[in-house]
Amino acid sequence: MKQHYEVVVIGGGIIGCSIAYYLAKEKVDVGLFERDRIGTKTTSAAAGMLGAHSESNGEDTIFSFARSSQQAYNELKDELYTLSGIDIGYREGGILKLVFSDADKYRLTSLLKQPTVKWLDKEEVKKMEPMISPNVLGAAYIMDDMSVMPVQTCESFANSARILGASIFENNDVYKVEEKGDNYLVRTTKGDVEASYVVFATGVYGNGLFKQIGLDEELVPVKGESLIVHNEKHALKHTLFHESCYIVPRTNGKLVIGATMIENDWGDSVSLDGIKVLIEKAKSMLPSAIEWKIDHVKAGLRPSTFDGNPFIGSHPEKEKILVACGHYRNGILLAPATGKMICDFILGKKMNREWVEAFRVDRRQSMVI
Ligand SMILES: Cc1cc2nc3c(=O)[nH]c(=O)nc-3n(C[C@H](O)[C@H](O)[C@H](O)COP(=O)(O)OP(=O)(O)OC[C@H]3O[C@@H](n4cnc5c(N)ncnc54)[C@H](O)[C@@H]3O)c2cc1C
Repeated sequence: MKQHYEVVVIGGGIIGCSIAYYLAKEKVDVGLFERDRIGTKTTSAAAGMLGAHSESNGEDTIFSFARSSQQAYNELKDELYTLSGIDIGYREGGILKLVFSDADKYRLTSLLKQPTVKWLDKEEVKKMEPMISPNVLGAAYIMDDMSVMPVQTCESFANSARILGASIFENNDVYKVEEKGDNYLVRTTKGDVEASYVVFATGVYGNGLFKQIGLDEELVPVKGESLIVHNEKHALKHTLFHESCYIVPRTNGKLVIGATMIENDWGDSVSLDGIKVLIEKAKSMLPSAIEWKIDHVKAGLRPSTFDGNPFIGSHPEKEKILVACGHYRNGILLAPATGKMICDFILGKKMNREWVEAFRVDRRQSMVI
C-alpha cells in the first residue's frame, strides 16, 4: 500500500467502484478501500433495472440525471467488457408498467406523455407477454428502460479501474478520517494512508464517519427483500412492474422478483412473510410464476436520504471531502452519472448546475419551510 493517493474512495459498492473507474480513466491516482468484498452489500441485492422512467415523473431534476446515466451504459457495456472481460448483463426489452384498474392508469398520466413510452391495450400486452394475467387492462410500455446485472457491473467497474491504474483494497475498513495539513489521513485497519481528496461512497453505512467529519445528515435504511428464480419453460421478454414490485428477466436466464420496502430495518435476513408477499405479487402479474424454482433469496439496505435524492458533492466546509451516498432505489441506474460527476468535481470541470444544486450535501439548510 502506498503512503499517498491523490484520491481515496471509501466504499466498494457500485457507486465507489464507478467513481474509481472514472477517476482512473482520467489518470488520477486513486485508492479504493472496501471493508468487505467488492459489491457484496446493498449492490448485491439490487435487481439491476435502469428504470429512468419507471422511477420518476419525467419532469424533475433527478430524471435528467438518471436519463444521462442510463444512456452512459450504452457505451459502458462495451468499454467495461473490453477492459475487464466481464459481461455486465446489459439487457434491452423495456418495462411494462401494468394497469389493473382506472386508478393505476391515472397514476401513469405523466409517464404516458413521454416520447419513449406508449400505451398498450390488453390484447397488445398479451401479444408481448402471452402468459400475462387476464386481469391486466393494459400497460405503459417504457421502450427505453433496460437492465444490467449489478454484481457483475460493480466488479467490472472495479477491475477496469484496476487495469487503468487504480488500487483496490478489500477487507480493509476505514475507521477514521483526520485532517493532516493540506491533506487527509485515512486510517484503515491495515494501515494509514494520506490523500488530497477523500470520497465517501459508503452507501447506508457511513453515518459514523459522517459524524467524525462534522456532517449532520444521516442515511436511513429501507430494507428490500427479493427472490431470484429460474424456469425452463416460459421466458419472460420484458420487465413487469406494478406498485413498486417487479419481475426482471436477466441475460443469465434467471429472474428477479422484487422487492419489499421495510423502513429502518438494519438487518439483512429475509423473512417468510417477505417471500410470501413477493410470490403473491408475482402471481398476480404472471400466474405461471408459481411454477418457477427458487435459486436464492437476498436482502439489502437501500440508502435513503431525507428527500429521496442522493448526496453528491463537497462537504459544506471542506471542499476536498466529497460525498456520494443515498442513492436509495436507483444506485445501479445512477452509478455512471455519479462517478462522472465526482470526477468532474475533483478535476474542476464544468458541471450541470441544476444537478449540483439538487444533490448538494447541505441542501436541507437552504430549503424553504
Ligand atoms: C432489493 C433491492 C432492489 C434494488 N433494485 C435496484 C434496481 O433495480 N435498480 C437500481 O438502480 N437500484 C436498485 N437498488 C438500489 C441499489 O442497490 C443501491 O442504490 C446501490 O446498490 C447503492 O450502492 P452504494 O455503492 O451506495 O452502496 P453499497 O453497495 O452498500 O456499497 C457501500 C460500500 O461501502 C462499504 N463501506 C461502508 N463503510 C465503510 C468503511 N468505513 N470502510 C470501508 N468500506 C466501507 C460497504 O461495505 C459497502 O460495500 C435496489 C436495492 C435493493 C435493496
